[in-house]
Amino acid sequence: MSIIEISELNKSYGPNDVLENIDLRIDKGTIFGILGRNGVGKTTFLECLVGLRKPDSGTIRILDFDVLKNRKQVLEEIGVQPQEASLLNHLTVYEILKLFSSFYRKSNSADQILSQMSLEDIGEKKINTLSVGQKRRLLVGLALIPDPQIVVLDEPTSGVDPQIRVLIWEAIRTLKNNGRTVILSTHFMDEANQLCDTVGILHEKKFIVCGSPEDIINTYSTNEKTLENAFINITGHDLRGGLD
Ligand code: ADP
Repeated sequence: MSIIEISELNKSYGPNDVLENIDLRIDKGTIFGILGRNGVGKTTFLECLVGLRKPDSGTIRILDFDVLKNRKQVLEEIGVQPQEASLLNHLTVYEILKLFSSFYRKSNSADQILSQMSLEDIGEKKINTLSVGQKRRLLVGLALIPDPQIVVLDEPTSGVDPQIRVLIWEAIRTLKNNGRTVILSTHFMDEANQLCDTVGILHEKKFIVCGSPEDIINTYSTNEKTLENAFINITGHDLRGGLD
């Protein structure tokens, strides 16, 4: 069953067309990964999806409501990972979780988020003393505060070390196991391959291929059976061409 239905979505910045006639459905309870090179439009797509950016045209329906007309409902049903700049450095981890919770009618408790993101030991630490990995887990945790049906994460594991990536992956898998739908962007092939149920390859303004990692590999890879090889065959670009 689709929880998200997007039709004929267009977005440009002046003369720069970024998204063109995007049609996409995302199934409830799945992890959908957007894979694409730097500057292809992943963030723009996610911002349109959650109502932070207005598309030029098209419709986005989530849980049967129109995103562009229901900002309030969007805030309650979709958890969005905030930008790092929105972290208030003088607060402790616990304090910012409490603060963000106060914005919602119903929310997970600060303690629940600390445990979900393995942050129990650093609740009393000030945000400006956190490591990159701790900050990233906190940002993902902030997205989970409204206990949303849908969680949207823009590059949730970029710049963090492998152990922290695994912790974040585990938190995302737990969301899925609890029936939540997760939409994330990534430039990591292993993340797309091992974590995502469906991968949408965004290239030249469109999702040119969407499918399970296995299907994409089986259909498009040639000399080696990898997602990376399939990606190169689909887009004509290799990773050194600037996937990140
Ligand atoms: P990605 O997330 O895949 O790196 P973005 O969505 O950030 O891609 O950017 C897609 C394209 O849109 C890029 O060419 C970028 O320069 C341009 N762009 C992004 N945000 C803006 C903006 N606010 N104003 C003008 N151009 C933008």
